[in-house]
Amino acid sequence: MCGIVAYVGSKQCANLMLEGLKRLEYRGYDSAGIATIDQGKITVVKTVGRVANLEDKLEQVGGIRGSIGMCHTRWATHGGVTDPNAHPHTDDKSGICLIHNGIIENYVALKTYLEEKGHKFKSQTDTEVLAMLIGELYDGDLEAAVQAALREVTGAYGIVVMCEKEPDTLVAARKGSPLMVGVGDGEFVIASDGSAIIAHTSHAFTLEDYQVVKVTPKGFRTSTIHNVPVTPKVQQLEIELEQIELGSFSHFMQKEIFEQPKALRNTLRGRTDAREGKIVLGGVSNFAKQLTATRRIVLTGQGTALHAATIGEYLIEDLARIYSVAEYGSEFRYRNPIIEENTLVIAVSQSGETADTLAALIEAKERGALALGVVNVVGSSIARETDAGVYLRVGPEIGVASTKAFTGQVAVLTLLGLYLARRRHMSGDECSDLIRELEQIPDKMERILEHDAKVRKVTEKYVDRENWLFLGRGYNYPTALEGALKLKEISYIHAEGMPAAEMKHGPIALINDGMPAVFIANKGRQYEKVISNIQEVKSRGGRIIAVATEGDEHIKKMADDVFYIPDVPECLSPMLAVVPLQLMAYHAAVIRGHDVDKPRNLAKSVTVE
Ligand code: GLU
Repeated sequence: MCGIVAYVGSKQCANLMLEGLKRLEYRGYDSAGIATIDQGKITVVKTVGRVANLEDKLEQVGGIRGSIGMCHTRWATHGGVTDPNAHPHTDDKSGICLIHNGIIENYVALKTYLEEKGHKFKSQTDTEVLAMLIGELYDGDLEAAVQAALREVTGAYGIVVMCEKEPDTLVAARKGSPLMVGVGDGEFVIASDGSAIIAHTSHAFTLEDYQVVKVTPKGFRTSTIHNVPVTPKVQQLEIELEQIELGSFSHFMQKEIFEQPKALRNTLRGRTDAREGKIVLGGVSNFAKQLTATRRIVLTGQGTALHAATIGEYLIEDLARIYSVAEYGSEFRYRNPIIEENTLVIAVSQSGETADTLAALIEAKERGALALGVVNVVGSSIARETDAGVYLRVGPEIGVASTKAFTGQVAVLTLLGLYLARRRHMSGDECSDLIRELEQIPDKMERILEHDAKVRKVTEKYVDRENWLFLGRGYNYPTALEGALKLKEISYIHAEGMPAAEMKHGPIALINDGMPAVFIANKGRQYEKVISNIQEVKSRGGRIIAVATEGDEHIKKMADDVFYIPDVPECLSPMLAVVPLQLMAYHAAVIRGHDVDKPRNLAKSVTVE
């Protein structure tokens, strides 16, 4: 779930690891800890709170030394947010020290077994059970003990383990929680994300599920938990340091909102051919026939990705005339879904590690669906589980509140919609026209971003209100959901998004004097209807903030404030309409004094169900 960084080599590693851990801070966490081995002894320092709190605590104890170690940011799942529950955890027998992301599902049974053997636990976590189990099974070979322990475990894990008796060895393993090994010259950095590695080496490999790696300064060995040797593919990390640094921006979320035009140009590059009216998607070309024969599409995701998926649902159904439905991965998976012949499942996820979406995808595949991935992180679990896919190519997204990944997902789903439409019934000319419009989206986005100062001013007027509505219809109903989610996530203002017409069926009761209602009221098939909904809110005292099409002067008569977006075909409008909503959420959080990049209780990639 959260952050893992470990090091073995010849350097003093505490600061180096903490630098890496800070690069993972954006993922959200509640405690942090570090351990090293120095002169054959393990020292652990851990605390609730931020990495900065951990650094204070380290300073109080005079720092820790060692050229082998591990550090961790915890996002509690089992046991409260307390110092003893923070990682690393140690055992009481063999000098084992361990950090863990994920959940050990059968920890109760294992704990009972270990307690019967006389082990005494110091925390309430599932993780400590694994440390004890490895200690119990340790017989002079850490790698073998880790493999044996993991054969007993069900659940999800990314772990790093070290042992006082083998003071130059790290053993790491994964199942369902990402882990990478950076390969340097006589040194190795193991981390849950490449951004913690890139400052040291750009060569790395990803551990696969049920794989274990043993690392010493001399080299590494990878095997399965059944000790079958495997050969990993060491690759160049594609991240550049500047992509994961703030530059002149105050927050990553702000940087990523402003990066969207550039990111989208990357998403589209080489994938559109306006002259021929053709979409070129290398990642799915082997499945062209099957895709053309698709009769039903299930788009699945969680949070922001589900909102993108819902726009995809409208878009694919409208353009390609294929029955489509967007559904939460968590619901789809457990409802005994019907997968008929020629069903396509599209899993949408920024990280590619979202546990609920991944589980839905696996379920659908088992029932015979063809699976496509729309993900950002190359080589992630979803990318690997799917039959084919289209990467977002928007670069690393660090802000917990997703922005550029959202517009990237919508852009990719638009490409897919056009691809499918063109193979079924859409004419080359119609497709060419839409492609030309799509190619202009990044420039048009830039025009919206120029009005950032105005968005801030408008936000100031409403920022004290604790309840907001976000309303839209058709393609921009999901945009309304996304606007509400952004505001909730980082400003902690209660906001609800819904189809504008739904408001009358209950939520209208909430409207009182001064309640902000954000309407996406751009020109389109349902424009007049949205205007009626605006009147309904206005006549009950609500304050109207409208996102409207440039040139619409009429709307000024009804709305208290208007954000204009350039005119585009309706199916492309969500990518523009969402931008002022992202900016508004950002400013609301800043004005209210919240830490935009570390919103409370949230984690960037949710690898637990
Ligand atoms: N389940 C573990 C705990 O609650 C690990 C949580 C994490 O992934 O950070 O301590």
